[in-house]
Amino acid sequence: MQKDSFPKFRALLKKSENIVIVTHYNPDGDAMGSSLALYNYLIKTGKNVTVITPNEYPEFLHWLPGHKKVMAFSKNQKKAAILISKSDLIFTLDFNNYSRLEGLGELLANSDAKKILIDHHQQPDNYAALMFHDVKACSTCELVHEFIVGLGGKKLIDKDIAACLYTGIMTDTGSFRYDSVTPNTHLILSDLLATGLKPSDIHSAVYDTYNESRMKLLGYCLSEKMVVLHDIHTAYISLSEKELQKFSHQKGDSEGIVNYPFAIKGIRFCAFFAESEGKIKISFRSKGSFDVNQFARKYFNGGGHINAAGGRGNVNDLQKTVDEFLSLLPLYKKEILKK
Ligand code: 5GP
Ligand code: MN
Repeated sequence: MQKDSFPKFRALLKKSENIVIVTHYNPDGDAMGSSLALYNYLIKTGKNVTVITPNEYPEFLHWLPGHKKVMAFSKNQKKAAILISKSDLIFTLDFNNYSRLEGLGELLANSDAKKILIDHHQQPDNYAALMFHDVKACSTCELVHEFIVGLGGKKLIDKDIAACLYTGIMTDTGSFRYDSVTPNTHLILSDLLATGLKPSDIHSAVYDTYNESRMKLLGYCLSEKMVVLHDIHTAYISLSEKELQKFSHQKGDSEGIVNYPFAIKGIRFCAFFAESEGKIKISFRSKGSFDVNQFARKYFNGGGHINAAGGRGNVNDLQKTVDEFLSLLPLYKKEILKK
């Protein structure tokens, strides 16, 4: 954990007018929730703020307050470059190394703006002037809440900011079920609900938005593609680009599918492989002490958290990536079983 002091954050914010907030490639609920919560807060304090995402984010987050102002670098490279060059301060949220930004990383590395990192992933890189980092936090949204409160901004947390924070906490904790959820998480949620937020509205906006083909993709994954290796307590699903196209795959459609095999008794390690634009994107999830962050870092150019991580295939070939994964499993049989 490294949390710099609030007088330092206040001093840096005081002398910064133009602020950019950046989050990771393929932004998820916590990435967008934390970025837009901070955006809405900073706007209220009179700052000039823009959220820049490396690429576009899924439709099911397109209702978050402030989302219309978000700039996707992939669609506005020139504008984003100008904003970054003119910024005094850049917040980097829900990631901790520039490789998570694709092309946008270069712009940040070359910018003179001071950086503030707010994040809960393991092993942060050393690019930030100030850090608000804690791997024990259930989500970056939890940290952004603490950050705003620490700056003295609790009264500015309105229903819009609360909706953003609630979304990130909900999506990063599997709807409040993981061990990363603490009494403090529920105290924060209590404050958020006190703004008048309706939990059913947020749940519906995020989760009840499948179209028919997304639902059928899930069914196909579970009935045709899931491989269960009972003896190693592991299950995995792999999808080729062709298969994804067959189900008119949209960004975010396969999010969460990796978790389904956990509902099978005895399964403690799940993996999901998807071919996208010729590359292989991998998601890992575990139960207990098997550290998928280390596993993803060691073998698949990735990282994340102990129980949730992602990575990429070493070769741009789906079957070869799955085969490499399968060849590693026997080495980890004991670890996968550890409570
Ligand atoms: P997901 O499987 O949902 O894409 O990601 C799970 C977790 O691992 C998230 O916290 C995400 O930020 C992290 N993660 C996903 N892909 C990568 C990657 O390629 N590199 C790193 N360092 N982390 C990743
Ligand atoms: Mn997160």
